[in-house]
Amino acid sequence: MKNSFLLSFTFILLIGFHSCKNKKSEEPEMHRFCGTDFCTAKGGSELTTLLEDTSIYPPVKFAVQLINATSTKNNAINPKDIESELNYIFKKANISFSVHPHIHFLQSNHNIDTIFNNKNIRDTILRQYNVKNNINIYIVAKGKSLNGYTNVLTENFSIYKNTSLNYLIINEKTILNGHTIQHELGHFFGLQHTFGKSPVELSTDELPDGTNCKESGDYVCDTPADPNGKIDQNCKFLGLHDGSEYPVNPDIHNFMSYYPSHCKMKFSSLQYKLMHNFANKYRKYLATL
Ligand SMILES: [Zn+2]
Repeated sequence: MKNSFLLSFTFILLIGFHSCKNKKSEEPEMHRFCGTDFCTAKGGSELTTLLEDTSIYPPVKFAVQLINATSTKNNAINPKDIESELNYIFKKANISFSVHPHIHFLQSNHNIDTIFNNKNIRDTILRQYNVKNNINIYIVAKGKSLNGYTNVLTENFSIYKNTSLNYLIINEKTILNGHTIQHELGHFFGLQHTFGKSPVELSTDELPDGTNCKESGDYVCDTPADPNGKIDQNCKFLGLHDGSEYPVNPDIHNFMSYYPSHCKMKFSSLQYKLMHNFANKYRKYLATL
């Protein structure tokens, strides 16, 4: 009994909610967009090990169940379109998806911020509809801040196979925006934000010259240091909000950044490699292939 309590307690400490909000380019960047820090240093070193792993892993395929937990059905959401888009984007990671053609509908008035902050409400929704051996994507009402989130372990990723941490929650206004699912799946397969632990401008611990890229930022060395700075309408990096320059251009177009959604369209090569290895090592328990 004592052991099981300790195990549960330890496990709770290891789980973090990872949530993301879109940043408006003109806003100062003092918001905390994520419910908790992503990786611990130990988790970061597990990611670095995965990136240096030269094993050849096979392609991996996941079944996806969509659950519409809003007040009314949204007929604009087409499982086939979502499947095509995800298979196109994740092809370079050798990850594919089979999205179930039927969307479960669960009438709910709770918005994403409430679901994020209230464990009882969240558990009630998940208990009814979470499908085992699937990635469950919940589409819920828009709140005041979050676009989407998924919960992640901060380290010891091998614990995943004993958990039901197999879902994403996306606000219905962003389900069709072309980047939120990709961003959350990036987290689901081990990616961190390009700016690292905090979205506060210039708080990244990654050096612009990239010399500490394996131990800082997102632990991925082909995504430049990202100060989460200022950009213009055309997704051109302008430096920092106080007008000062920054010595490198961050990857404005990266799905794992906080730059505006119309700029985001790609993962880097090493992000693809990390997702592929992560899916094989830590998410294989969910896979259908
Ligand atoms: Zn995020």
